[in-house]
Amino acid sequence: MFEIWLEIVLTRMAWIMVALVLGSGERVWGHETAGAARYLGNEGVLVTLGDVKVLFDAFYADSYGSYVLVSESDREKLMNDKPPFDGIDAIFVSHAHGDHFTAAPTLAYLRLHPDVRLFGSWQVADSLAAATNSDDPVLKRIVPFELQPGDTPEVVQIENLLIDVFAIPHVGGARMAAVSNLVFRVTLDGLSTVMHLGDSEIDNVLFAALQLHWDARHTHVAFSPYWFIGNEAGERILTDNLKADQVIGIHVPAESVGNGDGWRNRLGGDLFTDPGESRAVGHGHVRGGAR
Ligand SMILES: [Zn+2]
Ligand SMILES: [Zn+2]
Repeated sequence: MFEIWLEIVLTRMAWIMVALVLGSGERVWGHETAGAARYLGNEGVLVTLGDVKVLFDAFYADSYGSYVLVSESDREKLMNDKPPFDGIDAIFVSHAHGDHFTAAPTLAYLRLHPDVRLFGSWQVADSLAAATNSDDPVLKRIVPFELQPGDTPEVVQIENLLIDVFAIPHVGGARMAAVSNLVFRVTLDGLSTVMHLGDSEIDNVLFAALQLHWDARHTHVAFSPYWFIGNEAGERILTDNLKADQVIGIHVPAESVGNGDGWRNRLGGDLFTDPGESRAVGHGHVRGGAR
């Protein structure tokens, strides 16, 4: 009898502890740390959480006649450190295709922002190195990754960012096999985790093989190429493997501009279509954050 009573007391105490931890967390996080994702064009996204800001695939010059370029006004704000692009902590580049990355504007940005580091594929790093002198100090702030699909993801921690890097083949099969495409999962300030999939292939086998690593940290928002959305195999990856709270489709063709709702209804999921659009980004309950 006493044992049962003790067990009930202990169970209650455990629940009170959980409630206290969750309650104090809410107070600490407050509203000022609410996160947001803002669309620049194609796969360009700015993610902010309070003072912590990261940019994905934001410096590119080619539309290939199909994709949205970064607006002149956003480009001007980016280069000149004007809100909302002031105080960027790091920039990420998924791969070296002209609708995601162009060396000249990337170098120009890095020169103007001496505290910003770039994380990208080795092909991005090579392309930057080829566009400047070998002793250019900018090159010291480039962090290249040489991962192959199937490799164990790499983990990098800098100040308030925890970064996991995965290699997933570029969409297009054998034709694109030589292109190194990276998926970045970034936790801002230990609170909000976002994932950017670049131009990933819908490869159910490879995504499933990395399950242990997807599960290592909870993802609040995944920025996924729009070909995953409304596609049965793509949706399986988003739901069963990545398990993100929220998915936002990117790389949506330019013809969607001004007709976002039509495209969202047709594909049955959320999409970024018009530059300047933004969404709230969730926070809290980042499992395995101490990895
Ligand atoms: Zn590409
Ligand atoms: Zn692309």
